[in-house]
Amino acid sequence: MTSDPSTAAIARLRGEFVCAATEAGFLHEQAPTILRDLRRALIVCSLFYLMFSVADVLALGLPGAIPSLLARAVVPVFAWAGLRHARRAATPVKAAYRVASVFTLLGMLTYMFVAWRRPADTLLHGTSVGLMAVVILIFIPNRLRTSVAIALSSSLVFVALAWIQHLETTRHLVSMTMLVLFANAFGAVAANRHARLWREQYRTRQVLTNLSVRDPLTGCYNRRHLNAALLDGEIARARRYRLSLSLIMCDLDGFKAINDTYGHHAGDELLRRFADLLQAMTRESIDTVVRYGGEEFLIILPETRLDGAVELAERVRAAFAAERIPYNDAALATTASFGVAGADFAAHQAITPQSLIAVADDLMYDAKRGGRNQVRARQVETGIARVA
Ligand code: GH3
Ligand code: MG
Ligand code: MG
Repeated sequence: MTSDPSTAAIARLRGEFVCAATEAGFLHEQAPTILRDLRRALIVCSLFYLMFSVADVLALGLPGAIPSLLARAVVPVFAWAGLRHARRAATPVKAAYRVASVFTLLGMLTYMFVAWRRPADTLLHGTSVGLMAVVILIFIPNRLRTSVAIALSSSLVFVALAWIQHLETTRHLVSMTMLVLFANAFGAVAANRHARLWREQYRTRQVLTNLSVRDPLTGCYNRRHLNAALLDGEIARARRYRLSLSLIMCDLDGFKAINDTYGHHAGDELLRRFADLLQAMTRESIDTVVRYGGEEFLIILPETRLDGAVELAERVRAAFAAERIPYNDAALATTASFGVAGADFAAHQAITPQSLIAVADDLMYDAKRGGRNQVRARQVETGIARVA
C-alpha cells in the first residue's frame, strides 16, 4: 500500500512524505500543533519586531521614525488577522501556511524599508536579516521549500541593496554577505532535519498503532481495538446522526477438519484468503473487518440497511464457497456461515453494541444449525441482547 504511513518514504530535500496522501494525513493529524506553533511564533516575532522600534526612534528621532514605525505596525496587525483566518479556515494547515508565507514576506519587506531609512546601520541590519532568515526557516511553521524561497530571496535582495549603496567598506560587506548566507544555509539544514525527524516520529507512531490494533495473521482489526474504540464509535455516530448500521458475524465451516487434515499452515492460509476476500468486498475506509475469534470475523457496515448487508453477506458467501486455494498439491475449499444484524437508529436509539453483536452471533449459530454455508438476518429493535 503506497499510502501506508508505516512504509512511506520521506523525500530527502523537501523533507515531506513522497506520497501526497500520506503527507496530507500527516498534516491533518498535526493541524492543532501547527496552529499552536504558528500562534506562538507570530506573537513572539511581532513583539520583538515592535520592540526594535526603539532603535528607529533613537536613530531618527520621533517625527523621522514615524514612517518606519508605521511599516513595523503592519506586521502585528496582519498577525492578528491571519491567525483569526487560519483558526476558522476549512483547511487549517493550508491556511496556516498561507498566513506564515504572507507574514514572513511582510516582515522582510517592511524590514527592507526600515533598513533603507537607516542606511548608517547596514551591518547591524545584515545581522538582523540573517537572524530573521533563521526564524523564518526554523521557528515559523511553513512548507520547507516556501520558507527557503522567502528567506533566501529576501536575504539576497537585502545584500544586493547593501552592495549597491556601498556605505561600508568592501571587507565589511563581504563579511556581512557571508554571515547572511551562512544563516540561510544553517537554517535550511536545521529545518530539513526537523521536518524529516517530525515525519519519522509520525511514521513510528503509525507502526506502533497498527501493531496494537491489528491482527498480525490477517491484517484485520483485532478484538481489543473493537472493544476499545471501533464499535462504540460507530454506534455513537449512527445514534447522533440517526443512521442505519449493520453487523455481519461470519465463521468458517468445518475449519477444524482443514487444520486436522492439511495442518495449521494450511488453516492459516485459508484464514488469510478469507480475510482478503472480506477486505476486498467491503468499502475501503468505511466498513471495518475485525478478526473476532480464531476463525470468526465481524464486519461493521456504517450507514447500511439490513437488506444491503444481507446482499453483501450473500455475495461473500457465494464467492468464498467458489474459492479453491492452492496449498502444496491440494486445493483447499470450505464455506462460511453468516449472521446479519441490522439497526435503524432513527427509530431505535437504545440499541447497544453488545446487543447488536449478540444478535449477529446468535444468527450465525442459527445458520450453522440450519446446515452451514448460509446467511441468517434480522432487524434489531430493542437494546436487549436476545434473539426470538
Ligand atoms: P463449525 O463449522 O461448527 O464452525 O466447525 P469448525 O471446525 O469451524 O469450528 P471449531 O470451533 O470446532 O474449530 C475452530 C478451529 O479453529 C479450532 C482452532 O484450532 C482453529 N483455529 C483458531 N485460530 C486459528 C489460527 O489462527 N490458525 C489456524 N490454523 N487455526 C485456528
Ligand atoms: Mg467454524
Ligand atoms: Mg468459531
